[in-house]
Amino acid sequence: HDIPDILKTIHAEVRERFGQHAGKVADYIPALAQASPDAFGMAVVTLDGDVHTVGEAHAPFSIQSISKVHTLTLALDKAGDDLWKRVGREPSGDPFNSLIQLEHENGIPRNPFINAGAIVVADVILSHYDDPEAALLAFLRERSGNPDIGRDDEIWESERKSGYRNVALANFIRSFDNIENDVQAVLDFYYFQCALKMNCIDLARSLQFLACRGKCPSSGEQVTSIERARRINAVMMTCGTYDAAGEFAFHVGLPAKSGVGGGIVAVVPHVMNLCVWSPGLDQKGNSLLGGYALHRFTRMTGLSVF
Ligand code: GLN
Repeated sequence: HDIPDILKTIHAEVRERFGQHAGKVADYIPALAQASPDAFGMAVVTLDGDVHTVGEAHAPFSIQSISKVHTLTLALDKAGDDLWKRVGREPSGDPFNSLIQLEHENGIPRNPFINAGAIVVADVILSHYDDPEAALLAFLRERSGNPDIGRDDEIWESERKSGYRNVALANFIRSFDNIENDVQAVLDFYYFQCALKMNCIDLARSLQFLACRGKCPSSGEQVTSIERARRINAVMMTCGTYDAAGEFAFHVGLPAKSGVGGGIVAVVPHVMNLCVWSPGLDQKGNSLLGGYALHRFTRMTGLSVF
C-alpha cells in the first residue's frame, strides 16, 4: 500500500465531506472547548518503525480516555487477573460517564474503558505504585520515545473543578467498597492521566506493543505478556469507543480507543498502529472525522482483524 498517498486522500476527503467546524468540541470540561475545531492530524507507525503523517500529527492534544489503555496495562502488570474481580470486560451500551449500571452490579464497572472502570483501575494503580503519576509518565515517555510528554495544567485544573460526574462515580463505587484509597487521591490521578498531552505519533508509538504480541518492536522488550496484549486488544475492540463500539467494529474493524480530546488510536495486529486527531466529536463522544478517517483507511487498505 502507498500509505502516504492514502493519508493524503483521506485528509482531502474529510475536508470535502465535512467542511469546517464538523462535530462538536467537548465543552463539559471548559478548557477542552478551546481546542481548534478544524484541526485534523493522522499518523501511521509501522512495526518496522516507519512513520507516515498527514495534517497536524505533531500537535500535542489532550489524550483524555486514551490513557485508559496505558493505565489498564500498568494495573494488569501489578494486579494480574485479580483486576477482573473489580472491573468487568463487557461493553456497557451506555455513555462513557454513565452511573446507571453500578447500582445493579454492586459497584463493579462494566469495563475498564468507561469512566467508572478507569476510576477503579486508577485506584488499583494507587495501591501498587509509590508515585503513580511518575510511573505513568515514565511509561508513556519510554513507550513513545518522547521525554517531553507532560500534563496540561489548565485542563487538569478545569477537570478538577468541573468533574461532578466523576466525583459521583468514584463516591458511588466507594460505597460498594470497590475503591481502596482516598477518593480524592484516586480522582486526582484520574484527572492527571486525562490531562496528559501527546501528539498522534507519540500515541501511535505508545501502543506498538499491542500490535507486536506485547513486545516493543524496536527494543524487543516484553512490555506485557502475549496473552495480556491479546486481551487488551479484545477489550479495545468491544469497549474502546463506548456505546459506539459496535459501529466501530462494523465500520473500522480494529481495536481502538478514543478520548473526548478528539484522539483515536487503533491497532492493526502484526502490522501497524494508527492515531487520528480531530476535536469535533459525534454524539457518543468519539471524534467525528477520526472515525470516518479510520473507516476510510481500513476500506482503502483492506486491513481489518476480521
Ligand atoms: N476526562 C474525561 C472525563 O472524565 C474523559 C472522558 C473521555 O475521554 N471519554 O469525563
